[in-house]
Amino acid sequence: MQTRIQADLLATPEGQRANRILRNCVHCGFCTATCPTYRLLGDELDSPRGRIYLIKQVLEGGEVSATTQGHLDRCLTCRSCETTCPSGVEYGHLVDIGRGLVERRVGRPAKERLVRWLLRVLLPYPERLRPLLRTGQFLRPLLPKALRSRIPIELSRNSDSAIAPRRHARRMLMLEGCVQSLIASGTNRSAQRIFDRLGIELVVAPEAGCCGAVSHHLNAPADAKAQIRRNIDAWWPEVQTGAEAIVMTASGCGAMVRDWGDLLRDDPDYADKAARISAMTRDAGEILHGELAGTEKDLFATGERPSVAFQNPCSLQHGQGVKGVIEDLLDRAGYPLRPVADAHLCCGSAGTYSLLQRDIADRLRDDKLRALQAGHPDVIATANLGCQHHLAGATAAPVVHWLELIERAMRPETGRE
Ligand code: SF4
Ligand code: SF4
Repeated sequence: MQTRIQADLLATPEGQRANRILRNCVHCGFCTATCPTYRLLGDELDSPRGRIYLIKQVLEGGEVSATTQGHLDRCLTCRSCETTCPSGVEYGHLVDIGRGLVERRVGRPAKERLVRWLLRVLLPYPERLRPLLRTGQFLRPLLPKALRSRIPIELSRNSDSAIAPRRHARRMLMLEGCVQSLIASGTNRSAQRIFDRLGIELVVAPEAGCCGAVSHHLNAPADAKAQIRRNIDAWWPEVQTGAEAIVMTASGCGAMVRDWGDLLRDDPDYADKAARISAMTRDAGEILHGELAGTEKDLFATGERPSVAFQNPCSLQHGQGVKGVIEDLLDRAGYPLRPVADAHLCCGSAGTYSLLQRDIADRLRDDKLRALQAGHPDVIATANLGCQHHLAGATAAPVVHWLELIERAMRPETGRE
């Protein structure tokens, strides 16, 4: 693609990067076929190719309006288009740059600014979010249905985090997560117990918090970078003293942490540390896939298991390129797997998307649930809290994290107090 980026922008690292990405795009349009918003809305400007044109227009000094912003807002950042693109166009990085420029040029109405600010100051902080969710639970019967489904029925108890982990020579760090620690801390406890059985201690650094994804996706890069630096400081002592990996149990956080090196590449104090941490980051499934090999017979109890439909989150399959790994683990643990059509398509959760673009998010969720339930599974499993919560809000079927299923399949440990 030929580009004529404005000279002042082309003088910036951001402009140069956008220019490089744009020039890789050959307009072939293959990506449109796998874009959830294009499939749903049928508008070229709600497709990756259309959005790439809009961003090019912005960079070249063309007209920018709230309509442009709307098309970029409706993008889920699911990165399905990146997986499809034969030319290696880094759409995710391009849309980040485009959104930032558009925001600076057209701003937002006060109400939108307030909602986005509230999300940024509430979601990453469990101590602020907990009382709010408690109030929401209390008022649940009075709330409209659309809002009711977004409030979790149960919150994790503080005591959920109390397990007695054994010390092991092998250590890995685990990100507890912000919202996950509040509404599904059982996932992390399952991870700790499974790894413990394999002789690996999963260490949680108490000072670590949100991975920065919420602020990053809401176009607040300074906040996101501050959260990243705080986590790096919290983890660095463990990294320097032998932690083998950083384990992610929520794929949305995993995709973000794997991008830290890129986000802090110009930070003289943190660039190297961020790059090292990104390189050490793995989804729990990737690690267990190797660590479990050969132990299945001893580790898993015999007996019948419920059938499972697995939803591979976009942040895992497109954001981290991890496919087939968790399905294989569930199969090795004895779970019959049901096929899922259009597995590459987003469920509509997409971080804060399900709160900001409710109509599209709900339509994508309904499509996803139809695909997941077509094979009549007993359980739906996923690898990301956001997807789990979003899907569970619209079905009576159990929606669980796959780590819980792996733990449930394990033999009771003999001799453990
Ligand atoms: S990130 Fe997802 S929603 Fe956005 S353009 Fe790409 S495929 Fe479409
Ligand atoms: S598939 Fe890649 S090269 Fe083709 S239009 Fe989409 S982004 Fe551009």
